[in-house]
Parts: sequence; C-alpha cells; structure tokens
Amino acid sequence: MRDLALLPKAHLHLHFTGSMRVSTLAEMAADRGIRLPATLLDGEGLRVPADERGWFRFQRLYDAARACVRGEADLRRIVREAAVDDAAEGSGRLEIQVDPTSYAPGVGGITPALEIVLDEARAAWRDTGTEVGVIVAASRMRHPMDARTLARLAAKHAGDGPGEVIGFGLSNDERRGDTAEFGPAFAIARRAGLASVPHGGELLGPAHVTEVLDHLHPDRLGHGVRSSEDPGLLRRVVDAGIALEVCPASNVSLGVYADPAQVPLRTLVDAGAQLALGADDPLLFGSRLVDQYVTAREVHGFDDDALAELARSSIRASRAGDTTRKRLLAGVDDWLRAPCPPAPAPAPA
Ligand SMILES: [Zn+2]
Repeated sequence: MRDLALLPKAHLHLHFTGSMRVSTLAEMAADRGIRLPATLLDGEGLRVPADERGWFRFQRLYDAARACVRGEADLRRIVREAAVDDAAEGSGRLEIQVDPTSYAPGVGGITPALEIVLDEARAAWRDTGTEVGVIVAASRMRHPMDARTLARLAAKHAGDGPGEVIGFGLSNDERRGDTAEFGPAFAIARRAGLASVPHGGELLGPAHVTEVLDHLHPDRLGHGVRSSEDPGLLRRVVDAGIALEVCPASNVSLGVYADPAQVPLRTLVDAGAQLALGADDPLLFGSRLVDQYVTAREVHGFDDDALAELARSSIRASRAGDTTRKRLLAGVDDWLRAPCPPAPAPAPA
C-alpha cells in the first residue's frame, strides 16, 4: 500500500485552536497555571451526542483550550506547528480558519491578531514549503454586525497566496443565529474576492444547507455531508460546483454518525461532489489529516486511484494559484505512478 502521508493534498478545514498539538496545549496550560480537563490531554477522540448538550460539552472544552492561548508567541507557535504537521502529512496547501476576536485581548485587537497570524503563515510557508492561506471566520454566536467588521478586516488582507486571507467563514453551532443576517458580511467578503466558506450541513440537515446556499452563496461548504440526505439538494450542490470539506472524525466525535462507516463518502463521491477531506479540530477529535484518508481507505474501501482522486479534488477546491495547483496535481500523478510497495509479510505465529 502506498503511504498516504506522501500523497500531495490540500487541507481546507482546520481551526486555529483545534489544530494544536496536545503537548503544546499542555505546555501552555502549565506555563499559565491553568488546570485543564483531562479529556483535553488524553489524545482520545471526544464522543458527544449530536444535541445541544453534546455541542455545549465540545464548546466548553474548546473554550478551555483557547483560554490557554494568550500572546503573540502563542499565535505564532500555533500557525507554525500547524504548517509543520501539515507538511509531514503531505499537505502542500493549508487553509486555516481563525476568528481573530478570540485572540484579540492578548495582542491588542483583532487587527494585530490577524496580522500576526498572516505574518507567521508567510514565514511558515518559507520554512516548510506548505502554503498557509488564512480564512477569517465569524461566529454564529455573535452579532451579525461583528461578522461585518471581520469581513471588512479580511477584505483588507485579501489574496490567494501564503500569508493572505483567502476566504471568509462562519462557524460555531449551526443551530444558532439567523443565517440570512450573515448575508451582508459574506457580500463584503465576496466583493473583495474572498472565497465564501461557511459551515453547514453537519449538525443540521438539508433545509439548513438550502438556507446557507441561498443566503451565503458558498464556494465550499464546511462539512455539507448531510446534503446527502436530499438527492435534489445534492444535485444542486454538485451542479453549482460547491466543494464539500468533509471531516469524518468530526462527524463521529460530534455524534452526527455513529461510526466512520456511516459517513456518506461513497454517496457524495458517486454523486460527483467535489470533496476535500479535513481534520477540523484534531486537538479534540484525536485524528489528523492523513487519518481521514485512512478512513476512506480502510473503512470505505477507496483504492489508491480513488484516494488520489480525493487528493486532486482537495487541491482543485483550494484557492491555491495555478503554479501551486499544477505542482501538487503532478505530485499526485507521481504518487500513483510510484510502484506500490509489497504488503508487509505476516508476523510469524
Ligand atoms: Zn469546522
């Protein structure tokens, strides 16, 4: 079997604090004398029910981790380690989501928070070879006016390259907030040429995905897996060329599906959907980027041709420029052309 860590790919769904290594979080907490819940440090994937209580538990843990992230050095360390870890997993293009509001208090505002992240993204790209683009993500838990403020800030740094803002997102509990009220923020982002990449179709089903499509005009949907429950909607998503950032480990951790076999990867691929597998919050879900490809291989029976196609799909769905895209796609062909190493001999009984 070919090594999935060597398969060139793009990673399009990863949150800032959620990207942290457990060891980094443990160090930051110890430094600040913060006692963290053991669940955050055991490296095991969280398992909660897909209801409000489950989400509350997830959110509380996420907030506890975020409270350990304070100043400029922390922000830089998180970006750098995300790039290093992605590079080790064959990701040539990382598009990481950050809500600068969360980190503003430690660095004097949302503008410096974002500028630090962008600056380190450029440096990390130079050192690792993995391009790091940034998605500014607003939160459904806050007022839509805050989302507009973030969209204006994102627009000022818009571009397709490493260390630039490439997209605008909307995260947090899909059940909160009125989707339509976030439309104006997405309009500001779109006018600046940013990709529209809101979450949708993980915790809620087709009716909510339709709302997101109607009001936020996504280029990609964060998750979107539950579009699979309505063939008409799935057709609309495919026809509109909206890519789905599918995160199997997240779906199982948050109780959307009981086990990885139920994540509708086949249904989506067979319908012609463009997929980009992502890790979402490896810190909480105990599962990184390559693990998602392993799930496709081992649980869903994707062979190396199909896995290569998933990787191509992630590269095409990214906002990488032509040169990077061509280089990564050529790398996928090389991966497939390399002879498949023989399966390891069974251990003697
Ligand atoms: Zn997410």
